[in-house]
Amino acid sequence: MLGIILLGPPGAGKGTQAKKISDEFAIPQISTGDMLREAVNNGTEMGKKAKSFMDQGGLVPDEVVIGIVKDRLQAKDCDKGFILDGFPRTIPQAQALDRVTNDLKKEIRVVLSLEVDEKELMERLCGRRTCAGCKAMYHVTFNPPKAEGKCDKCGTALMQRDDDKEETIKARLVNYKKMTEPLLQYYKGTGKIRSVMATGDIGRIYANIANILR
Ligand code: ADP
Ligand code: AMP
Repeated sequence: MLGIILLGPPGAGKGTQAKKISDEFAIPQISTGDMLREAVNNGTEMGKKAKSFMDQGGLVPDEVVIGIVKDRLQAKDCDKGFILDGFPRTIPQAQALDRVTNDLKKEIRVVLSLEVDEKELMERLCGRRTCAGCKAMYHVTFNPPKAEGKCDKCGTALMQRDDDKEETIKARLVNYKKMTEPLLQYYKGTGKIRSVMATGDIGRIYANIANILR
């Protein structure tokens, strides 16, 4: 059972690295951000509730995200492991995850803490582009697609997230410091945390992560 948590501020590269881990280790990426955006797009009750928090760069209430993750972890494809990308983000979420994994007899083996200089995060998030089809991740300068505005993998148009605007990014970074950074301390106590330098070449960062996981 390879249960992995990816911790790090918005823009640290959690989604980028999670996709690579998922491909090589054949375990699913569980991104609460992706699941919430899907709920918003589908106009579900949960999506309507989450949207105002997301638009302002705030966190969606704990009980909502805990419920999503609890359901998701029970799916068959999580039997061999899973990558939590963007969850937990608060201490109560981490405590709930401990209870859920215990109940489901699943185990978090490692918490990868992605470390990036704060000043680089804004640049990364302002230039982030996502494939509307297969959700592949790009950056206009740091990781551009071969043809401008089009996904290399499936040819679908790339889009910019609604919350990747300077003001919203600032709010997200403030919330990260206040609500999520304390998790580093929480997980230090478990001995499962591994720090990963997450600046520079994406492939090289992944090579370090893969070494830890192997
Ligand atoms: P997170 O999921 O942690 O918010 P992403 O994986 O979405 O972060 O990455 C944020 C942006 O930074 C994306 O545009 C991505 O292409 C880019 N990016 C990811 N890793 C790096 C890196 N090592 N160097 C430069 N840009 C990167
Ligand atoms: P992300 O895609 O991880 O950048 O998340 C986008 C937005 O979804 C965040 O800014 C939050 O509003 C919301 N969100 C995602 N994951 C969580 C979580 N674990 N707890 C609370 N809100 C979340």
